Amino acid sequence: MDITPIKLKIGDYELLPVPTGEFGLDGGAMFGTVPKVLWEKSNPADEKNRIRMEARGLLLKGKKNILIDCGNGADFIDKYGEKLGTKFAEIYKIESGGSSLLASLKKQGLSPENIDIVILTHLHFDHAGGGVTSKDGQLTPTFPNAKYYVQKRNLTVAQNPNLREKASYFAANFQPLIDAKVLVLLDGPSEIIPGISTWISNGHTEAHQMVHITDGKTTVVYCGDVVPTSSHVRLPWLMGYDLNPLLLIEEKSKYLGQAAKENAYLFFEHDPYCDLAKIKEMNGDFAVEQRYTLS
Ligand SMILES: [Zn+2]
Repeated sequence: MDITPIKLKIGDYELLPVPTGEFGLDGGAMFGTVPKVLWEKSNPADEKNRIRMEARGLLLKGKKNILIDCGNGADFIDKYGEKLGTKFAEIYKIESGGSSLLASLKKQGLSPENIDIVILTHLHFDHAGGGVTSKDGQLTPTFPNAKYYVQKRNLTVAQNPNLREKASYFAANFQPLIDAKVLVLLDGPSEIIPGISTWISNGHTEAHQMVHITDGKTTVVYCGDVVPTSSHVRLPWLMGYDLNPLLLIEEKSKYLGQAAKENAYLFFEHDPYCDLAKIKEMNGDFAVEQRYTLS
């Protein structure tokens, strides 16, 4: 696989990857109806059929420091017993050591106090988990000076999860943000600050927000779980977790079409091999044109 290193700046913001640690998910669940003989070539599975997954946030470093998604919270794994139960880390192969949210920010010269804005694509644990930590036995926002942005409808389903999503939404990942009055609820597509806006999708879960970052010259789309890895650029390559696959195909078609038209980079949260890719439209579907790592 040919991967090109690049540096990206959009407006005054430097774009930096924030790997928060790898974890493992069942390969079959990650690729839905796609047969293993097709996905295992690019995503080899372990003896428990789990494939490697990154939980990669994106830092926009500039006048304000903006973080998109927070990963599983592997930094606080010793506190997992208190937060989500001890079995949790084992099932998802969440391990301490390696990269972590706080270590990745430190590498960019930032401490938790320096983060001004956290944008959460949605409240599933592998996206929101790192946003809440435990201090003196109390769950509290990891970033004490930040406002956290999420869609209002996504919070509503997180508070009353259906049976399929019950294992992904945990009050411990959002109630402390509500209690600390730092959770800002957005209602539909919104411009959070000039050049940074959200695209809403309901196929993976209700009111997931992708993040569109542009200065008119360079554009990056943070895909979240709409396109979790570069393998998922193909329209029918969906996850078994997606709630409404046909709707998600429609949404992917619309948003990837828009991204291709803008010559945007897609940023992948879960791809363990690359950070970004440019795509092209091909026979009514999409294909990766070039993969990149952000340095
Ligand atoms: Zn999700």
